[in-house]
Amino acid sequence: MGTPTSAYAAQSATSPLTSWSIERREPSAEDVSLEILYCGVCHSDIHSVRNEWGGAVYPMVPGHEIVGKITQVGENVSKWKVGDSVGIGCFVDSCRTCAACESGEEQYCENGATFTYNSEDKISGGTTYGGYSTQITVDQNYLVRVPESLPLDAAAPLLCAGITTYSPLRHFGVKAGMKVGVVGLGGLGHMGVKFAKAMGAHVTVLSQSEKKREDAMLLGADDYLAMSDPDVFKKNAGRFDFLLDTVSAEHDLNSYLSLLRLDGRMVLVGLPDPTPVSAFPLAMKRRSLSGSMIGGIRETQEMLDFCAEHEIVCDIEVIAMSQINEAYERMMKSDVRYRFVIDMASMKS
Ligand SMILES: [Zn+2]
Ligand SMILES: [Zn+2]
Repeated sequence: MGTPTSAYAAQSATSPLTSWSIERREPSAEDVSLEILYCGVCHSDIHSVRNEWGGAVYPMVPGHEIVGKITQVGENVSKWKVGDSVGIGCFVDSCRTCAACESGEEQYCENGATFTYNSEDKISGGTTYGGYSTQITVDQNYLVRVPESLPLDAAAPLLCAGITTYSPLRHFGVKAGMKVGVVGLGGLGHMGVKFAKAMGAHVTVLSQSEKKREDAMLLGADDYLAMSDPDVFKKNAGRFDFLLDTVSAEHDLNSYLSLLRLDGRMVLVGLPDPTPVSAFPLAMKRRSLSGSMIGGIRETQEMLDFCAEHEIVCDIEVIAMSQINEAYERMMKSDVRYRFVIDMASMKS
């Protein structure tokens, strides 16, 4: 017997999202409940709802870019109080004892983190439900604080798009003076540009056509390459220290690797279909190819504080909950600059 909560859910892989009611657990001594104010719309939501990665459980309530205000705290909760502005990202629990959890990399929990939606709910049983809803209850250790200076709506996508791009830039030591290329200019890419720029790098956007050149420069990029130009790979061979590849469509990784200098690294944060990688572009200049998935709680907090310090937020378009199906269609056409954010006040009217 939890708290009845309004939500939007997919009832199957082919049905549109519609209004539905879920139950949230009453906060335990270690829990915090919050009123969800905004939830960003991530490409993963579409993949999950349509069961493109398998393992979908219906009804499914997506959403893992959650920002809200605390409404209730359990008796053992000391670091949060009612009224605090907080965020929840892609996971809401993990084992807390494995090497990954102990080093603050809960997203890589060896026993499997509990993801914010469509994940086995080890506390209440059943399946977790995400942020396309009006409230949520979560353990006090799986929250982050949203700094006061950040607007809550534009901060929501930082919880996935933000940390997904911030974490590899930090982890692999991107710093002032480095030549960084951001491949793809969508929800992830536009954050990659802002972060790499704030870290002092010289930033180039690598996009398919000339279409996004002006946008890239407005976001702070120093240079722009249209990759459909047949000579572009040859002309820019060995140019970059670091490439952040945010593209989820199939593309030839080997060509992109050739753009790295000696010891350069390319990190994949999109999840493209399997692409054969050749040993040659790696071995010839001792290059590295890595992947990265979101970030831990501590690093997510560091990222939010970095955003406050550097006045970074996402570029967003706010929508009502009822516009979500239309928003998915537009995202499939890359028709959003750069993230949709659902205003949960629209669930109340
Ligand atoms: Zn996401
Ligand atoms: Zn763990």
